[in-house]
Amino acid sequence: MATPLRPSISPDTEFFWNGLRERLLFIQRCSSCGALRHPPRPMCPHCLSTEWDTIESAGRGTVHSFVMPQHPQFPFMDYPYIVALIDLAEGIRLVSNLIGIEPENAWIDMPVEVCFTEFDDGFVLHQFRPEER
Ligand SMILES: [Zn+2]
Repeated sequence: MATPLRPSISPDTEFFWNGLRERLLFIQRCSSCGALRHPPRPMCPHCLSTEWDTIESAGRGTVHSFVMPQHPQFPFMDYPYIVALIDLAEGIRLVSNLIGIEPENAWIDMPVEVCFTEFDDGFVLHQFRPEER
C-alpha cells in the first residue's frame, strides 16, 4: 500500500504538528493584537506583527462546508471520504477530514469535535467527527 502524503513542516508550522502528537489542537495568536490565525504564518494580517504565541483550541466547532473528493483517486485513501471546512468555536476555520459519519448524513452547521488519528509511522493527524452529546 502506498504511503499517505505528509505535510511539509516549517518553523512557523511545527508547533501545530507537534501539538497533534500530544493530541492537542493549537491555534496561532498574534502577541500584539491578539488575533487568531490559521493556517500558521509568520506575520499577522491585521497589525503586521511577527510576534506570536499559541492557544489550545477546545476542539469544537461546526461544519462550514464539505466535499467528497473523487478524482484523482489516491491508493492510500478509502473512498468515499469527506474533506470539510470546520469553523472552530474560537473563530478560525481549518481544513480537515470529517469521519465517523456517512457522507449522505453530513450537513452544514453540524456540530463536530476534534479527534486524532495516528498512522503506523507515528504521524498524528487531526480529524473531526460528529459531536457526542
Ligand atoms: Zn496582530
